[in-house]
Amino acid sequence: MIPCREVPKEAAHITKSTPLNVVEELADTPCRSHKCTKCCEYGTGTTLPEDLKRIAHHLGITEAELKDKYFDPITKYNTTHSRPKMLKQPYGPCTFLGKDGCTIHEVKPTGCRLSSWNQHGEQLNEWFDLNYFVDVNDAESVRQWAQRLKFSSTIPGGQLHELVPDKEKLKKMLKGEE
Ligand code: SF4
Repeated sequence: MIPCREVPKEAAHITKSTPLNVVEELADTPCRSHKCTKCCEYGTGTTLPEDLKRIAHHLGITEAELKDKYFDPITKYNTTHSRPKMLKQPYGPCTFLGKDGCTIHEVKPTGCRLSSWNQHGEQLNEWFDLNYFVDVNDAESVRQWAQRLKFSSTIPGGQLHELVPDKEKLKKMLKGEE
């Protein structure tokens, strides 16, 4: 049995601008360091364009082939990325899940690397959405995020006035005039 790595109990101070390498350290649990596959049984991680490039190279196929065979689109806040196909819908094992764990562990998607059940998990999700799904140049994306903020708080840097400091521009975006 793989031992769980000890993680600090205190809550981290994650903001939208916390660098990726720091965020990765905070996600450092069996999910990332070792080959725990509990989440991979019923969901898959968001995959960024740079991940696709790396995975395609690792598997020795083209990005187009990779996307076509192994990935589905995922859209949040009006931004679309990819994620590994699941073998059953809507929740099923990841197409890259083998009997000994993730078969692309060395090059697994950023969303998988940052997926964590530790005490930072919720903030890590927020960080991911804010950095990779919420597009401050897309009014629809900002409007959808504004909706989300009506029901839940966010990490520092994720408030509307922080994302779009120009008050007039923000007003127009929210009214659908941009
Ligand atoms: S790519 Fe690997 S880590 Fe990510 S969901 Fe699939 S099996 Fe799990």
